[in-house]
Amino acid sequence: MDKILVLYTGGTIGMDYTLQGLMPVSGLFRSQIDTLDSIKDVELDLIEYEPLIDSSDIGLEHWQRIVQDIADNYDNYKGFIIIHGTDTMAYTASILAFALRGLGKPVILTGSQLPLVHRRSDGWNNLIDAVVAADRSDLNEVAISFNNKLLRGCRAQKVSTYRFFGFDSVDEEPLAEFGIHINWFTKRWLRANRFNFAPIIPKEAKILDLSMRPGFTTDFIIETLNNVEMDALVLQTYGSGNIPISNSRLLSSLRNAVERGVIIVNITQVIEGRVSNDYASSCLHDLGIISGCDMTIEAALAKLQILMSTGMSKKNIKAAISQNLVGELTEA
Ligand code: ASP
Repeated sequence: MDKILVLYTGGTIGMDYTLQGLMPVSGLFRSQIDTLDSIKDVELDLIEYEPLIDSSDIGLEHWQRIVQDIADNYDNYKGFIIIHGTDTMAYTASILAFALRGLGKPVILTGSQLPLVHRRSDGWNNLIDAVVAADRSDLNEVAISFNNKLLRGCRAQKVSTYRFFGFDSVDEEPLAEFGIHINWFTKRWLRANRFNFAPIIPKEAKILDLSMRPGFTTDFIIETLNNVEMDALVLQTYGSGNIPISNSRLLSSLRNAVERGVIIVNITQVIEGRVSNDYASSCLHDLGIISGCDMTIEAALAKLQILMSTGMSKKNIKAAISQNLVGELTEA
């Protein structure tokens, strides 16, 4: 029988209604999945994290543990499922996509908008689709199973707090669609890995993201660039990667930060689309700023964090930022 390891970190799916609001309840999720007859042909082993968290509490230590747990159990399981809250699921999915270097198995994140204790919960569907995806021998990547779709983890973003359509990946088509039949879009999947599995444990790094907002944040961004110590900055710019180029103070603070060794990555704050060189105001490479192409903010932050965790030189990190490593971006 195929074995899948489920790492249960918390999130709405296993929560119950309490006087303080929805909260994860230890042991509840285990008792719920034990009742699942429809997946009895697959053996699920469960590791429940202690404490279970609302995913707004996720951070470096959780990511380190998830990567380590997958590494320790890698040879014993066909695939992995991470049960996770939806709020930060796209961040964890991006971290794992980069950290699980050489991945040759499915790692599927899932959760739900309504807890399993609710009779209309979307959790059962999401979970069963995750099991089916984690049982594929030809899926070599990190994905999110949600609302009848399988999305590439490092392309997905939370798009709704109240619809079952909680996640989307606007710049990348889904990896599968679960209807009456399952459409596995295998041509879109990452190819089998040529390299051995060599996970990277995420390390602390000073990475910041700042978003340009007309008339609001420019002075604050200049001050931050001039005064805050950081390793890297993701700058969320307008349209095709544009900034107010008539603001010479902004340009010189960006240039100075790059000269001090800060890696600055340009991504667009527009949901669909990419950074281009179409406008004078988007030609930021002259300042030493790197194009993040069509990466999501989650993917850009995670990519920087994991590349920095490898101990690579800044020069090599900069070169890797605009390269497609795990399907996170479309190269120009
Ligand atoms: N606040 C919850 C969490 O992220 C939301 C959810 O799981 O849907 O843990």
